[in-house]
Amino acid sequence: MALLEVTDLNTRFRTDDGIVKAVSGVSFTVESGETLGVVGESGSGKSVTFLTLMGLVDRRHAEVSGSVRFDGQEILGASGKQLQKIRGRRIGMIFQDPMTSLNPVKKIGWQLEEAVLLHNDVTHDEARRRAIEILKEVEIPKADTRIDDYPHQFSGGMRQRVMIAMALINNPEVLIADEPTTALDVTTQAQILRLMTKLQEEHGMAIVMITHDLGVVAELSDDVLVMYGGRVVEQAEVDDLFTKPEMPYTWGLLGSLPRLDITSARLEQIPGQPPSLLHPPSGCAFNPRCAYAFDRCHEELPELRAGAVGEGHRFRCHLSDDERARIWEAKKASLGAAEGSAA
Ligand code: SF4
Repeated sequence: MALLEVTDLNTRFRTDDGIVKAVSGVSFTVESGETLGVVGESGSGKSVTFLTLMGLVDRRHAEVSGSVRFDGQEILGASGKQLQKIRGRRIGMIFQDPMTSLNPVKKIGWQLEEAVLLHNDVTHDEARRRAIEILKEVEIPKADTRIDDYPHQFSGGMRQRVMIAMALINNPEVLIADEPTTALDVTTQAQILRLMTKLQEEHGMAIVMITHDLGVVAELSDDVLVMYGGRVVEQAEVDDLFTKPEMPYTWGLLGSLPRLDITSARLEQIPGQPPSLLHPPSGCAFNPRCAYAFDRCHEELPELRAGAVGEGHRFRCHLSDDERARIWEAKKASLGAAEGSAA
């Protein structure tokens, strides 16, 4: 049984302009100890998917359907009290900007201790000891004195370490990290990613890494979901995705990389705009930006179907297997030639 099992998740927001289809028919699983990379541009539905499953979308304005099972228990639609027991205890979360998650007027130590006291029957002294211990684990120098600093007294990278400490303080089974390194410089990003890998090995938790950086996905993930227009458009093991991507949007992402054995890349380099979720294009949502679109693409939504390697690699595209194989081989050759001529 998967630790986290999401089936046919849908999130619709009611707005004055109409219904925004933020998440449509999303299904995936996360196993214990696994890292799932979730990649896509802004507005692809990747963050809303995880806010929905954590019960963090405002249900007064949102319609949610589907199923989210955590450790075998249905949690979609669970009460605030039930979810509070899971959030911060069994599932930890880290966001891009720690200043929106840390309370600026409370000392770091107070905030960490609160996180322990909320979920455990321990004394203040025990909570403080645990807070110092986790600050040391995330490699904050002089943790026993810095625990009494305020968030603004830490650099961006150190604040992000504090956020990781906050998310891990109760030893969660899953860590959901939403663009955890985007606001940081490249060196600090690399340090934070190394730290997360080390902590994963020590704590054995699963990680969901939501990002628009394929370099991060390649470095950390076991499996990858590619999201576009609120849907999963490709899902595969990381090596399969990078060596044999099956649909044109993923080709576009990989084509924006400097090399196939990538180190870092941003996704904004694909020409055109992500689709409106209020008035999505008919058929395949990628058709206005797709160089290979044909009549059927404008009329019919492609099913998520299995490729040559079987159910472990699925994608949405109307192109035939032969056409996709031929186009990808040509793309690979042109990427290799460009790399050769640049050398
Ligand atoms: Fe392009 Fe058509 Fe495939 Fe969509 S279904 S990715 S528009 S070829």
